[in-house]
Parts: sequence; C-alpha cells; structure tokens
Amino acid sequence: MKIHDLPMPVSPEEGLKRLRDGNERFLNGSARFPTVQKEVLASLAREQRPYATILGCSDSRVPPELVFDANFGELFVIRVAGNVLSPEVAGSMQYAVAHLKTPLCVVLGHENCGAVQAALDRKFRKARHLLRMELLIKNILPSLENIDKHAQPAAQIACAVEANVRWTMRQIAESPEGRARKREGTYMLAGAIFEIATGRVRFLEQI
Ligand SMILES: [Zn+2]
Repeated sequence: MKIHDLPMPVSPEEGLKRLRDGNERFLNGSARFPTVQKEVLASLAREQRPYATILGCSDSRVPPELVFDANFGELFVIRVAGNVLSPEVAGSMQYAVAHLKTPLCVVLGHENCGAVQAALDRKFRKARHLLRMELLIKNILPSLENIDKHAQPAAQIACAVEANVRWTMRQIAESPEGRARKREGTYMLAGAIFEIATGRVRFLEQI
C-alpha cells in the first residue's frame, strides 16, 4: 500500500488542536521532545505521515518544530523568506498536498518579517534591492495592495505581514490540488502569525 492510500493520520481540526497545544507547551516550558527516541527514528525510516504542512519564513527566530513542540515526522516544513509561494515552494506544497495528503496546511508568518518590510520599502519608498531579492519580493508585492502608505511603521508592517499570509493562502486554495482537497472535505488551510517577543502563535481564519 502506498502512503497516499492510507487513511488520514488525523482530522484537520485535530491537527490544528495539536499545533495549538504544542505552542502552549512551548510557551509554558513543558516541551515534550528534548531528545528523539531511537524507536521513533526507526519507525520513521519506513515512512513519513506528517499531520501538517507548515509554510513559514526562513527567519532564525521562527523554527516551526520548536514553536509547535512537534516531533520528527510530524510536520512537513517548507521555509522561504517571506513565506512566499515561489515555483519551488509551490512544487513542495503540491507534493505535500497531493502525495502526503497532510490534512492541515498552515501558512505561518511572523511579526516584523524582513522580507515583507523589504517589499514595503520597495513599494512605498522606492528602495532598490539586490536582483534575486527583487525576484523574491515580487511574490509579496501583490499582497500589499490595500496597505496604507501613511500608516505608522509598526501598524503598517503588522498589516502587511497578515496580508501576505492571506495572499499566500489564497494562492494555495486556488491551486488545482487545493481545490480538489477542499472538495474532498478532509483538508484545512489556516493562517497564523508568530509573535516573536512572546513566542505565541496567533491563528487567523481557516479556509
Ligand atoms: Zn520573515
């Protein structure tokens, strides 16, 4: 039997509960996985069945497995600056959704994201970045359509980070796999923001 023929490891709602509970354990200092047992690794050598795909930022302050107190094999993690849906990221996402069939997908942005700030600087202050950074930022610019040019910097970046998460979610939801999985009714796409100073994950809406 192939991995994608197996039943779901958990429902999307249960997956979301696990992430919330894991973030609570992380916050109150009772994280479960200081070391990984040999039996866990041996069992994972046969197959992986992660219960969630996390698309997060490369920022060193936002490591998903630690933030959600998740063990080896539990999260399929894709990290790229600004949690953008570039072609390689979309390919990784397609694999997670179509083959691994993770029941839950979370786009995880974070406070004061440097990539989102660079996109704001590009849009409102005509800042110029290095060529390949410009290519990355291009993926963020469409999300900034309704951001107030004259807002206070702290409020502006907070709004932009949320808008960028929602923009990435929309692109995933509108992909062929996203639509197909939604029709099956066994899949949830959620947005979340990591608050760097407190360690708390604030979940946005689910679609
Ligand atoms: Zn970031």
